[in-house]
Amino acid sequence: MTRTITVAYGDGIGPEIMESTLEILKEAKADIKFNVIEVGKKIYEKGFNSGLMPSAWEDLNSTRILLKAPITTPQGGGYKSLNVTMRKKLGLFANVRPVSSFHPFIATKCPGMDVIIVRENEEDLYAGIEYRQSEQTYECLKLVTRNGCEKIIRYAFEYAVVNGRKKVSCFSKDNIMKMTDGIFHKVFDEIAQEYPQIKNEHYIIDIGTARLAAKPEIFDVIVTMNLYGDIISDVVAETSGSVGLAGSANIGKDYAMFEAIHGSAPDIAGQDIANPTGLLHGAIMMLVHIGQNEVANNIRNALYKTIEDGIHTADIFNETSSKKKVGTKEFTRAVISRLGQKPSQLPLANFSTSDNKTEIKGEEIAQKIEKRTLIGFDLFVEWNKKFDDLLEVLKDMESEKLEVKMISAKGLLLWPHLDKHMMPNYAGGQTILRFIGKGITGKSSNDIIDAKKTITHQDIIEMLIIMNEKEIDFVKYEGLYLFDGKAGYTSGQGE
Ligand code: NAD
Repeated sequence: MTRTITVAYGDGIGPEIMESTLEILKEAKADIKFNVIEVGKKIYEKGFNSGLMPSAWEDLNSTRILLKAPITTPQGGGYKSLNVTMRKKLGLFANVRPVSSFHPFIATKCPGMDVIIVRENEEDLYAGIEYRQSEQTYECLKLVTRNGCEKIIRYAFEYAVVNGRKKVSCFSKDNIMKMTDGIFHKVFDEIAQEYPQIKNEHYIIDIGTARLAAKPEIFDVIVTMNLYGDIISDVVAETSGSVGLAGSANIGKDYAMFEAIHGSAPDIAGQDIANPTGLLHGAIMMLVHIGQNEVANNIRNALYKTIEDGIHTADIFNETSSKKKVGTKEFTRAVISRLGQKPSQLPLANFSTSDNKTEIKGEEIAQKIEKRTLIGFDLFVEWNKKFDDLLEVLKDMESEKLEVKMISAKGLLLWPHLDKHMMPNYAGGQTILRFIGKGITGKSSNDIIDAKKTITHQDIIEMLIIMNEKEIDFVKYEGLYLFDGKAGYTSGQGE
């Protein structure tokens, strides 16, 4: 049955590489009908700040599949990234980015690279919740949920099983971000137990990225958080020869979107020099997703044969392994003329109808419900006088329920146990007052805190009234909770 998909031409090099991709799909006899929607720059300029006309959602609702060329997100001005909006609105939680080397046909320092990056797509800093709180201070919230971690990590393991992969590596930075990255790592360790046939390992993102850039062949499937996944997929794609080579599938329960990993490359737009391979790889993943595996095999074999024959766009051209430098259009014709042919050294495409489709498993690890207890709050204040003046103001503060237990700035403990040598670093600005219920230790650690005493929201409100009367300029507060007696907040550095 002919499948209808939604197509978006995008900005910059988008239209050129989309034309190339659609032409190849047509010539390879993909059984597809295309509905074109307008997205990107033109739509932003019409005043739709998500880069998409409301009518486009209707089309997507009927087709459920989008093939999208890159778009340009205008900087600043309240514009939201269309890509991020789409991934979140359509529930596309998994971003799968396969990158392999084309050695010896495309120059690379990493001939053995064949890695799949599974990037979490809806959470993390890409929630895009940011604030300017004062003259100096800007904030971006990093939101991570246990459910979100479970979904993406389970998807990575399922992907490994279905695609005959042997190992899943988790990258996170939980040595620093103990709660957000910490839960990602913890869930990884838990889910890994369910897949004894797949090896598992964890890397701190710094060394993981360094190894990935130098020795990608030691990795198989990598699962990581949104921002890290975005960065490392460009690193590996570029290491394989060009950022223009890799494609990506954004997968959710009901929808899927396929694209190149790179952006709209405005620096080379309209010059007929862009490499369409990344988007074509995205389209091949789409064909597999909709069950047109034979067409996917045919196109990928023709693409690899073209690369083997040394027909290269400028980004991958080099004097040793390339035979002819071509533009986008000539590269497209070269692929079309090789449909039906196979590469002799690069791997043959072998998508078969029964495999390659990773199941989305929703079941969650049985979680015991933890008791959540409010014991205090952190008040973020803007203080631009001397630190001693702040202590003075706080000294004669009356509250039956709450007391200041700690003062910090940018996570560094300032009070109590003040190290006088640190004080020259205090230049005012955002300062955090940690209020804890009287009689509660409240120290953040892995030890269980005795939390028989709790506080209420009313206690917080009363304290805020006192702070307001004292003309303390506060910009926000965060509740401090215990979960089964364990602190749900971090301590100050040096506490
Ligand atoms: P980019 O990926 O567009 O370009 C980076 C470099 O790689 C440029 O030198 C470019 O010429 C080159 N390049 C990229 N794709 C190529 C290809 N197919 N063939 C040959 N060379 C290629 O990144 P950027 O310059 O940082 O971003 C440009 C715009 O793209 C920004 O507005 C950004 O927001 C947007 N962007 C969109 C997406 C998307 O739509 N999925 C992803 C990333 C960036």
